[in-house]
Amino acid sequence: MVFMRFRPQLIFASLSRSPKPRTSPPPAATLAAAAARRRHSTTTAVSMAAPSEDALRRALAERQAAVDAQAEAVRALKAGGGASKAEVDAAVEALKALKVEAGAAARRLQQSVGAGPGGAAREEMRQAVVNTLERKLFYIPSFKIYRGVAGLYDYGPPGCRVKANVLSFWRQHFVLEENMLEVDCPCVTPEVVLKASGHVEKFTDLMVKDEKTGTCYRADHLLKDFCKEKLEKDLNLPQEKADEFKRVLALLDDFSAEELGAKIKEYGIVAPDTKNPLSDPYPFNLMFQTSIGPTGLSVGYMRPETAQGIFVNFKDLYYYNGQKLPFAAAQIGQAFRNEISPRQGLLRVREFTLAEIEHFVDPEDKSHPKFVDVADLEFLMFPRELQLSGDSAKLMKLGEAVSKGTVNNETLGYFIGRVYLFLTRLGIDKGRLRFRQHLPNEMAHYAADCWDAEIECSYGWIECVGIADRSAYDLKAHSEKSGVPLVAHEKFSKPREVEKLVIVPSKKDLGLAFKGNQKMVVEALEAMSEKEAMEMKTALESKGETSFKVCTLGKDVVITKKMVSISMEKKMEHQRVFTPSVIEPSFGIGRIIYCLFEHSFYTRPSKSEEEQLNVFRFPPLVAPIKCTVFPLVKNQEFDDAAKVIAKALTTAGISHIIDTTAISIGRRYARTDEIGVPFAVTVDSATSVTIRERDSKEQIRVGIDEVASVVKQLTEGQSSWADVSKTYPAHVGPQGDQE
Ligand code: AMP
Repeated sequence: MVFMRFRPQLIFASLSRSPKPRTSPPPAATLAAAAARRRHSTTTAVSMAAPSEDALRRALAERQAAVDAQAEAVRALKAGGGASKAEVDAAVEALKALKVEAGAAARRLQQSVGAGPGGAAREEMRQAVVNTLERKLFYIPSFKIYRGVAGLYDYGPPGCRVKANVLSFWRQHFVLEENMLEVDCPCVTPEVVLKASGHVEKFTDLMVKDEKTGTCYRADHLLKDFCKEKLEKDLNLPQEKADEFKRVLALLDDFSAEELGAKIKEYGIVAPDTKNPLSDPYPFNLMFQTSIGPTGLSVGYMRPETAQGIFVNFKDLYYYNGQKLPFAAAQIGQAFRNEISPRQGLLRVREFTLAEIEHFVDPEDKSHPKFVDVADLEFLMFPRELQLSGDSAKLMKLGEAVSKGTVNNETLGYFIGRVYLFLTRLGIDKGRLRFRQHLPNEMAHYAADCWDAEIECSYGWIECVGIADRSAYDLKAHSEKSGVPLVAHEKFSKPREVEKLVIVPSKKDLGLAFKGNQKMVVEALEAMSEKEAMEMKTALESKGETSFKVCTLGKDVVITKKMVSISMEKKMEHQRVFTPSVIEPSFGIGRIIYCLFEHSFYTRPSKSEEEQLNVFRFPPLVAPIKCTVFPLVKNQEFDDAAKVIAKALTTAGISHIIDTTAISIGRRYARTDEIGVPFAVTVDSATSVTIRERDSKEQIRVGIDEVASVVKQLTEGQSSWADVSKTYPAHVGPQGDQE
């Protein structure tokens, strides 16, 4: 959840819901010590042979110094007049060689910091993906005919289907598999709920304004961009300066408004669009405020997350579940965040779909019966020790990560494993997916452990799913604010004898001594821990009085023996009453979909090699349309056969389109490859047809009455292409790819 980027320690001390300060894509950049260290891709992360950025910077500085010295020597030789032509030529040649070496060192550094050819290729790839996505209406900038609104996007027809497929798989993989209780709560949320959760007070980012135009910017983004640009582009940056910028990146999240403002001034950072001076940074709450009803008296907000709807329903859901723990509730819905300056396309938007799970568990037993099912999974994990020591993410077995205590508990580990399976089955590349543990300064004080599923795309490593063990914090916050106990019960089979601390303040004596402050002293006495109470009891018994700090009064008071009675009493209890802990996986659906688009995209040359064709290699599960039906040529017989096939596909529940246009079959294939349709049925006879697989471009021949069942098996994963290729004859014919 999102809260002030600065001073997380302060935030965490007071706030109800924030496993971390706000993160921004690439979230890794917020962690900066690591930012420079982790700028490399996973591939480099795993193979780690490359020299460090610092070493490359030093090498460049040395070569640059050698070039300067040699240039000076050449000048001296020429000016002195005593040197022979051969000597001057040799010195000039040496200078040229040194310049070549310096150029190579500069290029190596550029590549290492991501500004070089690698960066350009990434940019080019992103452009190709985004152009295809926008041209094919996967998404559309909202309100485009009115010039759009930053951070708001529509999903067009194929985008809607991809999103529906992702959500349907999410429901199957999580809700169905775990018997979760799905709820659907309103987006408009009354203020009291978001006060209890801490959002009203703390859901802020620091903002600066262009002093002349009033344009707003996120203060930390400007400082981050400045430091990154210096590190990436200024190849002559002295080592101390490079270290300083890295330090700033490392501390960015911990900067107060004053510290951020001071750095912006020190570096002379101005408004990027106008170069005008900037205001001092100040907090801006990211929630969209509204009023509920016509009076304007009831303040509401568009929810910034769906989780609160589940917490406030905990009591009813617990009863619905037969008062048994553990159980999980889930919700898919829109979340709204009035981002200060949205950028990076679909990755940081002002309205997006969240899919959240709140898994409620006994804090004394976080084991998970199905953990064995995921324990053998091995994938890239990035525990905090590796981040702090400057290492890279490593392949780890989930079972070992839990048994060694790297991951706090089995239930958290179970969800990490399930999230891994979910993302990879959607088509996310395993090599560009890692689970990064939060550093201590990112985590709320009450959180037991937090991990982000980060996916690497052209923008860097992006936090797409947050998986946090938030302990009992949220339920306690709503219990306190609403006065409704949000607790669970463990019934004992036999009553148990327990020793309980009993503190009974004497209100009469405290009233006489403290008058108007009596209530605060009573509350402080009642809130004592067992240790504090027993120390007070000993002191009162030996000395008759003791000094006692009452935080709400901000001073110490003297408590005498008659003011309070403290004892340990034995009681028979029939049940344990406790606030459950919650483990929360929170999925940013738009971010996952965008990364999926990038991971699925590739180009291949057309048959004539004259152009590059775009392809999305979506798995059938995700593909917006599973199958196309193409009559090879326009004639009644083929059209009729196509209609029969389409009807059978509809009955089998397979999304498909018939394309009867007269353009070449190759062009028709290319058109549907571009939206990632995995199978194409070409009707070239009245009795049998060909089925073509998108990525291999192989074709098999299948009887018309079998087409729907073969495509169904393929799209639902009961058979692979290799399986059906063994059953049906391969087709090599004129209607192969022509483009
Ligand atoms: P948070 O509550 O901040 O941990 O966010 C939960 C998830 O929502 C993140 O893991 C992201 O995937 C996603 N998310 C957060 N902010 C945005 C945004 N402005 N635009 C799109 N997705 C977001």
